[in-house]
Amino acid sequence: MVFSVNSAQSLGGSQKTESSQPIHLSQGPQFQGKASKRMHVMAKPIGAVCNIDCNYCYYLSKQDLLEYKKGCSPEMDEGLLEQYIKNYIEGQNTPEIIFSWQGGEPTMLGLSYFEKVVELQKKYQPVGIKISNDLQTNGTLLDDKWCEFLAKNQFLVGLSIDGPQMLHDAYRTNRAGRGTHKQVMKAVELLHKHKVSFATLTCVNNLTSKNPLEVYRFLRDEVRSPQMQFIPIVEQKSFRTTAPQTWKSNEQLKQGDKRLIPGNANSIMESWCVSDEAWGNFLIAIFDEWIQRDIGRVFVQYFEASVETWMGRKNPLCTLGQLCGKGLAMEPNGDVYSCDHYVYPEYKIGNINETKLETMAYSQVQQNFGFAKSKTLTAQCQQCDYQFACYGECPKNRFIKTRTGEPGLNYLCAGWKKFFSHADKAIAYILRATGNPVAHGNYSDQAIRNVGFATKF
Ligand code: SF4
Ligand code: SF4
Repeated sequence: MVFSVNSAQSLGGSQKTESSQPIHLSQGPQFQGKASKRMHVMAKPIGAVCNIDCNYCYYLSKQDLLEYKKGCSPEMDEGLLEQYIKNYIEGQNTPEIIFSWQGGEPTMLGLSYFEKVVELQKKYQPVGIKISNDLQTNGTLLDDKWCEFLAKNQFLVGLSIDGPQMLHDAYRTNRAGRGTHKQVMKAVELLHKHKVSFATLTCVNNLTSKNPLEVYRFLRDEVRSPQMQFIPIVEQKSFRTTAPQTWKSNEQLKQGDKRLIPGNANSIMESWCVSDEAWGNFLIAIFDEWIQRDIGRVFVQYFEASVETWMGRKNPLCTLGQLCGKGLAMEPNGDVYSCDHYVYPEYKIGNINETKLETMAYSQVQQNFGFAKSKTLTAQCQQCDYQFACYGECPKNRFIKTRTGEPGLNYLCAGWKKFFSHADKAIAYILRATGNPVAHGNYSDQAIRNVGFATKF
């Protein structure tokens, strides 16, 4: 295929790239003569503890919300680590088992901790099964030794970098308030030097969103990013204490309300967030440059995923797919939550000291969580031309009302719609020019048959 779509391995950050199929044990594909079982956990062996202090970090506040304040160790001890690795492997029946390590900053645990991880994985590795790892990091603690280890053990690294120095250092600061860009660029060079597989994770906030091409060109030309992931930063001021979907529906603001714009007077949003319009504009500016000169050689996760959906395939990203629920999150004390974005007491589904991971992953509660993404779409989403590519995006962001007053619309809706309607024609054109089907959109094969190719293009 023309585009370098990669849906095989998830990286950290805000979304999973695993298939978003619901979990059924009794049906579906088989592996080694038994029902195939697959799950994904984002393990946070050091919880929210981090060596830097990014202003917009959604996870640092978990230190107050969860058990940390009650004096529990922020580090997953070796006994629990072994139990987790054993449990995670035994709960799956699939050719490849993928471990994801996140924080906080997981490299604060030290290299020896991850050497132990690999040793334990080998101890429990079933014959004929591949074990892979990915690690999300701010890069500031990486050195030659770390990179040798990561390369040798084929870790996929997710490196957080927000673009050129001025934009990155605006929020990604150390505890003394100084920017971390220099250190991260040192990590970039080390990752290249040791040929470590990596992707960049870039937060799209109120500043980066206004400088799309500066960000994109920097990642492409200076970082030589093998894979770009962009993460829209969306948090209401109440996010530290209020779990998603526990919002009062009668208090939700209507799409277009000025109080939804970050930085406006009386805004309900954190000032560092991206606005819906700015999100759409950011994607469009980068998409136009990508499609004109970089397609096929620069991997931008959202664009590749969109191309897949236009072809009629499932979206490989959970945020834009039909279902949630396959990516659990685990804290250092073994507490497990429905998703990385739902680490709130209301969404705790168990603890690995008491319940097997597979029991939690395949539980009715978790299935309900997964299906709710499609079941709770607003009428506006159900009638949307781009439902196939968006599915109401991540439920964590569904805290506004449609213009007709229905609650539960996604905050980013206007931006997504703007981007999808902008990209529609170009994606259809490229697909058709490369002999691929165009299953969806206003320029789909069906639409062309109905109105005639010449009229549509
Ligand atoms: S809530 Fe759903 S869409 Fe959002 S990150 Fe979690 S699994 Fe993905
Ligand atoms: S673009 Fe908006 S209306 Fe369309 S599916 Fe996405 S959130 Fe719903």
